[in-house]
Amino acid sequence: MSKIVIATHNPGKIKEFLPLLAPLGLEPISAGELGLPEPDETADSFPGNARLKALAAARASGLPALADDSGISIAALNGAPGIFSARYAAGDYPAAFARIIAAAQAADEWRAWFTCALCYALPNGTTATYIGEAHGRVSAPQGTAGFGYDPIFVPDGYAQSYAELGVEIKDTISHRARAFAQLRSRFL
Ligand code: IMP
Repeated sequence: MSKIVIATHNPGKIKEFLPLLAPLGLEPISAGELGLPEPDETADSFPGNARLKALAAARASGLPALADDSGISIAALNGAPGIFSARYAAGDYPAAFARIIAAAQAADEWRAWFTCALCYALPNGTTATYIGEAHGRVSAPQGTAGFGYDPIFVPDGYAQSYAELGVEIKDTISHRARAFAQLRSRFL
């Protein structure tokens, strides 16, 4: 089985990557296991940051690497926090949820969407990037599965949040699942 480095230190993402990656028949190794440093996300776009993370891991390990850069955009915040989603929460998700819900309520604008840029990189510098989006709306926090903003995001066509739907359903409809579907169609 060929190895692939999962260039993320986010345990929530790693948990979602594994079943999405399984059909490719690759053996995943995490950047953490290899002791790879986490590069600063200095690009100004999801694909830019995904590329920077995947390339750093591929070059440092000498193996193909896969990185995801993702985030939530809130219509009532004019699309913020986007690429700054982790920084917007600064580790305190309940406080971030309260700020987002207050903004949605004030504008009576509940639409939101997630974006995932997935970059596959080789040590020689070749990269391919795939982008997936999932649209939905903001709700009061509900559910305990998943990570990050999952409790406040209800995807279109569903009445429950990502955190209530759980990873099995999320992995069939999410922004990350959509980006992975494109990657898989290139490999399989
Ligand atoms: P980064 O891609 O590691 O810079 O961080 C992405 C951040 O966006 C995460 O830390 C979460 O806050 C948020 N995020 C990205 N994808 C998801 C998701 O599937 N569910 C919930 N939050 C997410």
